[in-house]
Amino acid sequence: MERINFEDLSDADRELVLAAERARENAYSPYSQHKVGSAVRAKSGKIYAACNVEVISLQQCVHAERNAINHMAAGGDREIEALVCHGPYSGVPCAECRQVIWEFCGTNPDVKIIGATLEREIDIMTIGELYPHPYGPETKGVDPREF
Ligand SMILES: [Zn+2]
Repeated sequence: MERINFEDLSDADRELVLAAERARENAYSPYSQHKVGSAVRAKSGKIYAACNVEVISLQQCVHAERNAINHMAAGGDREIEALVCHGPYSGVPCAECRQVIWEFCGTNPDVKIIGATLEREIDIMTIGELYPHPYGPETKGVDPREF
């Protein structure tokens, strides 16, 4: 993990962080008050952003990263180039989200994960660092890009 300044990001990665920040503004988290935004840049170049959505039972909550990935899939993209997680304390995706992110990394451990805090502290990571021994679609011979 490398910590850098927001200004040191590439134009494309700054745009991705800003998309996650904007999505976070719409987070629906009345029970935890934990607002998170996420944005995915697919290999196609398209950006998909989303926020977390809670429900009263809490068990059906959707994390921002998974919501952004669901939007990406609905948009017809199947491969992540980079993903931003923008949260109040840390921009590190939770363990469950790491599993879902890996599903759409095309078995590339170098897919960039950008963690961003409200103070725009930026952590540059890779999915391989976050999930070093993945259980993924390749285990069953599935390539999500074919579906
Ligand atoms: Zn998560």
